[in-house]
Amino acid sequence: AERPAGLWAMVAEACDRNGDGEALICGDVRLSWRQAVEQAARIAAGFRKLGLERGDRVAILLGNRIEFPLLLFAAAHEGLVTVLLSTRQQKPEIAYVLADCGAKLLIHEAALAERLPDAQDTPDLIHRIAIDDDPARSRFAALSDNAAAPAPVEVNEEDTAMILYTSGTTGKPKGAMLAHCNIVHSSMVFVSCLQLTAADRSVAAVPLGHVTGVVANITTMIRCGGALIIMPEFKAADYLKLAARERVTYTVMVPAMYNLCLLQPDFDGYDLSSWRIGGFGGAPMPVATIERLKAKIPGLKLMNCYGATETTSPSTIMPGELTESHIDSVGLPCPGARIVAMGADGRELPPGEIGELWIQSASVIKGYWNNPKATTESFTSGFWHSGDLGSVDADGFVRVFDRQKDMINRGGLKIYSAEVESVLAGHPAVVESAIIAKACPVLGERVHAVVVTRSPVADTDLRAWCAERLSDYKVPETVAITAEPLPRNANGKVLKRQLRELLGS
Ligand code: ATP
Repeated sequence: AERPAGLWAMVAEACDRNGDGEALICGDVRLSWRQAVEQAARIAAGFRKLGLERGDRVAILLGNRIEFPLLLFAAAHEGLVTVLLSTRQQKPEIAYVLADCGAKLLIHEAALAERLPDAQDTPDLIHRIAIDDDPARSRFAALSDNAAAPAPVEVNEEDTAMILYTSGTTGKPKGAMLAHCNIVHSSMVFVSCLQLTAADRSVAAVPLGHVTGVVANITTMIRCGGALIIMPEFKAADYLKLAARERVTYTVMVPAMYNLCLLQPDFDGYDLSSWRIGGFGGAPMPVATIERLKAKIPGLKLMNCYGATETTSPSTIMPGELTESHIDSVGLPCPGARIVAMGADGRELPPGEIGELWIQSASVIKGYWNNPKATTESFTSGFWHSGDLGSVDADGFVRVFDRQKDMINRGGLKIYSAEVESVLAGHPAVVESAIIAKACPVLGERVHAVVVTRSPVADTDLRAWCAERLSDYKVPETVAITAEPLPRNANGKVLKRQLRELLGS
C-alpha cells in the first residue's frame, strides 16, 4: 500500500524532533530544520508550477551550496527523482546523462551555462534554471518564491529517489537508481553504527553530488536531525578553520582530504577537540595518516567505511576501537549486509580466500536506469558484484586488496580507463592507448596515459583533447608517447601490470 515513506518522511521527522536546531549552514546562511522544511515546501510548490509530477527526473548540476539539500528535500516532497551531475563534467558527459535520464528540468550553476548541451541533444528537457550567489544572475527565486506546497506527494519506499551515474569498464556511464528505502537504510546504518544524535555536526567537504556527500553527509544528518555545515569547495586550510569554528563532531571524507589536512603547517593551531568521528572511505587509507591523526586528535575515532554508489554508501564500517588492531581491514559488514568473496567458478570462497567481493543488503540498489543489460551483468540475487578483490575472514572482517575493474582511484574519484582510452582513440594521431595508475603519496593514484601514435603529436595536445571531453580529474596528468605497439597477452588484452611496472608504480 502507498504511504508516506522515504526521504521526505525523514526530513519531516527531523523537523518534528529538532525544529529549532540548526540544520543547514553554508557561508553566512544558517537554517533551522523548521526553516529548511518551510523553504523546501516552497520550492516544492515551484516544481508543481512547472508541471512536474511524481517520477519525473530533475537534474542538478550544482556545487556545494545551501540550495543543494533544499532542492533534494523539495524533490522528495514531490516524489521527483533527482539526477546528480558533477560540476567537473564537460559538455559531452552532461549531454549524455541528461538525454539518458530524460530529465525535464535542469537546475545548474549559472557559471556553467556554457557547458550545457544544445537543445536538440536533450529532447525531454523543458526547463533550465540557473542558480548563482549573485541574485541578478540567479533564477532561484522563480522556484522558491511561492506559497508552500500543501501535503507531500505519497511515494512508495521502493521508488527511485535519486539517480547517480557511475562509469564502468565498458561503454557509457550507468545510472545507479537509489530507492528511498536504500537511502533511508544507509542513513540509519550510519546513525546507529556511529551513534549520531541531533547534537552532531557534520562538515560536508566532499562533493554533495557523489554518494558520500549525499548519503554519508546530507541524508545521515537528516536522519539524526543534526547540523550539516556545507563547505563550498574543499581546501585543507579552510577546512580546519571551519571545523574548529563550527565545533565539528562527525565527518566522512576520502583519505586524500585527511592527508591534505595533515600537510597544513598550522594543524596544531586549531582546536579540533569536538571532533569525535572521522569516517573515511572511497579509497585505501595510508596507515601513517591514521597514526598521525590519532596522535594529534586523541578523542577522534577513525572508522573505515567501504562502499560504493551501488551500495548507497556503506557496506562495511570498522568499529572505531578496532581500527588499529585491524588496520588492514575495511571493517565488518553493516547491519543486515552480507558480503562474500566469490571464486572465478562462481562459488563462495572459504574464509580468508581472495575473490571478487559480492555485497547484499537493504542498501544495495536494484539496478541501473533504463539499462537491463548492465543490471543483469552487475547484480545476482540482490548481490552487487563490486569488482573489488578481497576476502572475508572467519570473524567477518572484510579486506580489500585490489580490483578487477580497470579503474584508477584518484583521491576517491574514480576514473575508468576505458572511458579515457575511448576519448583518446578519437584523436586523429592516436593508434591506441592504455590508461594506468601512477602512485601518488597524497592522492593514492594519478592518471597516466601510454599513447601509441601514428603521427607526431605533443602530449599537451592530447591532454587538451581530453580536457574538452572529460571531467578535469579524468584527464591524464602525464602522457608517454610511443610508436611501439602496447604489450598484449595471447588473448590480445593489454598487459597493464607490465606497463605499471615500467612506470615504477
Ligand atoms: P563517491 O562517489 O562519493 O566518491 P565511493 O567512492 O564510495 O563514493 P564509488 O565512486 O562508486 O563510491 O566507488 C566505489 C569503489 O571505491 C569501491 O568499489 C572500491 O574500489 C573503492 N572503495 C570505496 N571505499 C573504500 C575503502 N574504504 N577502502 C578501499 N577502497 C574503497
